[in-house]
Amino acid sequence: MSFKQISLCVCMGMIFNQIPMFGYANAAEAAKDLKTSTPAKDQFAVPDWATPVAPWPLVNKNVTQSIEKILASPDVKSSMTYLKSDESQALKEAVLLSEIPAPPFTEEAKAKAYLELMKQAGIADARIDQEGNVVAVRKGSGTGPTIVVDAHIDTVFPVGTDIKVKVQDGIYYGPGLTDDTFSMATMLSMVRALNESKIQTLGDIIFLASVGEEGLGNLRGIKTFFGENKKIDAALMLEPFPPGVGGIISTASNRYEVTYQGPGGHSFAAFGLVPSAIHAMGGAIAKINQIQPPKYPRTVYNVGIVKGGTSVNTIAPDAVMEIDIRSDGAKELEQTSKRVLDIVNQSVVDENKRWGTDSLKVSIKQIGARAGGTTPADSIVVQSFLGATRANQSKEVMLIGASTNAGVPISMGIPTIVIPPGGRFTGFHTLNEAMDPKDAYKGAQIALTTILSLVGVKGIAEPLIPKLSK
Ligand SMILES: [Zn+2]
Repeated sequence: MSFKQISLCVCMGMIFNQIPMFGYANAAEAAKDLKTSTPAKDQFAVPDWATPVAPWPLVNKNVTQSIEKILASPDVKSSMTYLKSDESQALKEAVLLSEIPAPPFTEEAKAKAYLELMKQAGIADARIDQEGNVVAVRKGSGTGPTIVVDAHIDTVFPVGTDIKVKVQDGIYYGPGLTDDTFSMATMLSMVRALNESKIQTLGDIIFLASVGEEGLGNLRGIKTFFGENKKIDAALMLEPFPPGVGGIISTASNRYEVTYQGPGGHSFAAFGLVPSAIHAMGGAIAKINQIQPPKYPRTVYNVGIVKGGTSVNTIAPDAVMEIDIRSDGAKELEQTSKRVLDIVNQSVVDENKRWGTDSLKVSIKQIGARAGGTTPADSIVVQSFLGATRANQSKEVMLIGASTNAGVPISMGIPTIVIPPGGRFTGFHTLNEAMDPKDAYKGAQIALTTILSLVGVKGIAEPLIPKLSK
């Protein structure tokens, strides 16, 4: 796995960059991996990369009470029973969708199939937006907040990969089934459960199947959606997390290509007359390396590539470096990025001053920007997920970080959590992606309970999330 490939892996990746995930350049490369990788013994155990980033919060009494009231209501009870009975249907739809190829920028066929399923599930005016996202709004009574529930359509597997789902001993094997197609099916199941049970929520629920979450998709679907829809009060992202695991951190990054250009000259004859692109850049790198970024939220920088110069006896006319800056905090990312860029600009001033010229220039090109940040652990969305998990007799496991669509709403200050869709998963981004669907309905029950507590249920419970948007 090359550095470049690591950098292309977005989804679920990047927790301290230790996660073994793969983006494939083509089907042949993917097939090679299938031959060499074998699943671990307890393949559905919580993976090693999942490490806690914060303790679970205390759950406020009003959250617990609200969830109790919701779960005691006959309509909600019937929706929970429905989810259980609908589990096999959801699985069937997940398989159907998973067998439609959908690498980034090629999601159209899968989106269209999903749109039809969403209409059949009961949202007649579901539509595909200009970016290719499927948007299905289940209206509330109009007095509550608006929340988004998202699953992504795209997968890392190029067209031509064998994505036929195979079932063996109750385990479903299929690249893309896990990440993130089963989550799409869980949303269909939740829509049916809400409609069959005639639950009227106070707030609107927007079910969103987004494009471009993986690699070069660069979060295009979710960025467009939140760019166009400003009145969102909370977001729940479904990703193949183990049961009881919530995601609250999304690492953000800025990437820059910095190019120094000067006149250059002979190392002996022109010494003292012209500035050096390499000397200026070297000075900048030395200073960048003195930056002490915050440990929490974890913030890092790296000058990963340097190029430039003509020969050993030429004062360098050009030099280029590529810099990657990442942080679990949006503010810290911007602060650190600014410091790095200030150093770069100052390095040109210093080099020109040293030789009494102004002939050295620098240009800075941003070559990557990934939104991110951290949802506070005591945020109402985290409490709500925790309360729903406990109330559904499941165990809370841990709060983790991952690089997902969640970065976009988190960076906008929208309360956001990544939650599991139900089932147990393994082998993300490899051809060994597999799912154990046993009791998957429990994940759907917890997700739906979380949603209902946030938007409120008419005549039963007020929304936990305030309606900030007017
Ligand atoms: Zn994913």
